Amino acid sequence: MQLASDKRALKMTLNVYNTLTRQKEEFKPLKDGKVGMYVCGMTVYDFCHMGHARVMVSFDVIVRYLRHIGYDVNYIRNITEIDDKIINRAAENGEPFNVLVDRMVEAMNEDFAKLNVLTPNQEPKATDHIDGIVNMVQTLIDKGFAYAASNGDVYYRVRKFEGYGKLSGKILEELESGARVDVTEEKEDPLDFVLWKSAKPGEPSWSSPWGDGRPGWHIECSVMSCNCLGNNFDIHGGGPDLKFPHHENEIAQSEAANGGDYANTWMHAGALRIDGEKMSKSLGNFFTIRDVLKEYDAEVIRFFLASVQYRSEINYSQEGLQDAQAKLDRLYNALKGTDFNLELDLTDSVLARFVADFKAAMDDDFNTPKAIAVMFELVTQINKAEGEEKNKLASLLKIFADVLGCLQTDPEEYFKQGVDVDEAYIQDM
Ligand code: ZN
Repeated sequence: MQLASDKRALKMTLNVYNTLTRQKEEFKPLKDGKVGMYVCGMTVYDFCHMGHARVMVSFDVIVRYLRHIGYDVNYIRNITEIDDKIINRAAENGEPFNVLVDRMVEAMNEDFAKLNVLTPNQEPKATDHIDGIVNMVQTLIDKGFAYAASNGDVYYRVRKFEGYGKLSGKILEELESGARVDVTEEKEDPLDFVLWKSAKPGEPSWSSPWGDGRPGWHIECSVMSCNCLGNNFDIHGGGPDLKFPHHENEIAQSEAANGGDYANTWMHAGALRIDGEKMSKSLGNFFTIRDVLKEYDAEVIRFFLASVQYRSEINYSQEGLQDAQAKLDRLYNALKGTDFNLELDLTDSVLARFVADFKAAMDDDFNTPKAIAVMFELVTQINKAEGEEKNKLASLLKIFADVLGCLQTDPEEYFKQGVDVDEAYIQDM
């Protein structure tokens, strides 16, 4: 059920923080009632980690909310299956790159399904868009924004694009001092980045006007997003580390090749930290989704991730997950024994206040912690109410929970699972 099934809901103001303009803006899609949204997906060379889970759950809640307020969302999330990391890992494993890719895509789908992350409308793969990539690279060369080097690489001429740095706020002088050129590269300028890489022996490659090679990572997303959504679309999202250089380079490529604006609203999820530290293999605090699923119920992890506003940094800790577990127990407890699937009239005086507060929280750049606070006010009312009123309030709680992708298990089953864990624990003792 939607929070509002009529078009009036769309007239209420949704404010979204746009990384490009560095402020919250009233969200106005290009086409009434429709949203085109592209989120950079996984580079599939290993299992997804908790940082990925954070980004994917963030955008999942955003898509669910946009749909609940009545938007028809075309959600595109790509799969990067041709990249240095994949080629290197496949070589280490002694397997063809596509065998590694297939295995990791399957694992990714399993992990995301457990976390109740919706399947996107389309999941384009770079290798299905090679023609489009070659065309865009050629257009950039024709327009003077790119050049082919004698070794078969094609580079983007960063200084030629006036708006370079507008997303990340980086200025060319700063970038210049940090730029390094690899000995194998033949760049005119250290700032330039690769659009097409000539193939090394044994690497997967495709033919092109510049010889056999493969696309650079940035051009893949420029082409896939525009092929799926058109040259100018509503929302482009991704993880915190993608703002620069990946998204900056996407803008430079797409706007130079196509003319006009690329994505109107840029959204970036905040980082995930582990007990206040950066997650990294070298610090020994690196967790895949699979690691954490061994210890915690998938829904607890989902609720924990959804309970922090998507742009804020989230701190992963045992206490945080235990707190999420306790809160989820309270929410399920409120649903237990109620009929929570009633058709509701949301203008009903008992419900309207909660509907307005929940919507105000989510309309404020998807403020999930505030929205969850409204859900707990609702829980207090449910616990006090009886009969039909209790059922109505519980049904509203279920609608709110659907927006967060939580409370998807039958309450009786949920608590039974808990009992099973305790019994196993008791037996162990
Ligand atoms: Zn991307």
